[in-house]
Amino acid sequence: MPPKAKIRGPTDPKQQKLSFFTNKSTESLSSPDSAEVSEEQTKTNDNDVRHYQSKWLTVHPWLEFDGTKMFCKHCKQFGMQNIFTTGNTNFRTSTLTRHIASNDHQRAIMAPREQENLKKTVENVQNKEEKAIVIAMKAVYWLSKEGIALSKYSSMIRFLKDIGVSDIDSLNVNKHVDYSSYNTANDLLKSISNVINNDTTERLRRSPHLTILTDESTDIANHHKLSVSARIINPSSLQPSTLFLTDLRITNGTGKGIFEAIKEHLDSRGIEVKLVMGLGTDSASTMTGRKEELTGHFLRHNPHLQNTHCAAHRLALCTEQAAKKVPGMLKFQETLVTIFLSF
Ligand SMILES: [Zn+2]
Repeated sequence: MPPKAKIRGPTDPKQQKLSFFTNKSTESLSSPDSAEVSEEQTKTNDNDVRHYQSKWLTVHPWLEFDGTKMFCKHCKQFGMQNIFTTGNTNFRTSTLTRHIASNDHQRAIMAPREQENLKKTVENVQNKEEKAIVIAMKAVYWLSKEGIALSKYSSMIRFLKDIGVSDIDSLNVNKHVDYSSYNTANDLLKSISNVINNDTTERLRRSPHLTILTDESTDIANHHKLSVSARIINPSSLQPSTLFLTDLRITNGTGKGIFEAIKEHLDSRGIEVKLVMGLGTDSASTMTGRKEELTGHFLRHNPHLQNTHCAAHRLALCTEQAAKKVPGMLKFQETLVTIFLSF
């Protein structure tokens, strides 16, 4: 009775199933690279001892030899598990050619190219999305600079799409989300404003001293408003510059009320009020008085403070008084006031 043929490797369905669940490569079970093929078998089957040949290194650049075992650089690098990652001693040319054709080795060879492709695809998508967001931010920034209502943002994005601005279609996430809403515009404006505001605070903090320029007004909703700017100096270049700080709504228009509103704003930026060295205002007594008025409150924190009557206000007073002696100008002013009042 002939002995039963021993079935090994993937031809055995049970083993195939096992290889799937244990995530073992098909190569390690199917090819003679398998650890099951021992050096002993090699000797018996071939009836002589096979030797490693150094010329293999030239023919197979992926091959490594540590003096006793052969390894595959690529399979090791990409974490494959086969006889060429643990070390192969089956020194035959056919062992090497079978390893080249194995799934593991092919996957290891393709891995860098696939990684590169994936990286490029991701970068491409990111670049397009980033460009689209930058366009949306520029649209919001432009609307704000031009004093146009943010409610025009959606219309502006539609217009940009209509005239075929490249990459703007990447704003469309799906049928319902396309970042063209008023809420998006508000969020973008808030982000832009935060960045500018943080930069302003940083520049204020670097300045050793500052001058506050302030004036009161009433907006169209009849709210009492206070505009505050600062004149600062860059300690590195010694270049002065002017920063717009805030447009505050105030309820108390006295010198003390205005002072407290400005102090609270400076505190929120981490600036001590004693660093205010100059004050620029109109000539109203609420501003210039040195007792309970604005200047008086600043002087209590810094006795060296100088109040300057704002040059623009002085020019306005000067032209107004000079014009009183020019009949043509009086008539012009009268017409202008009449037009203003009719509105
Ligand atoms: Zn390999």
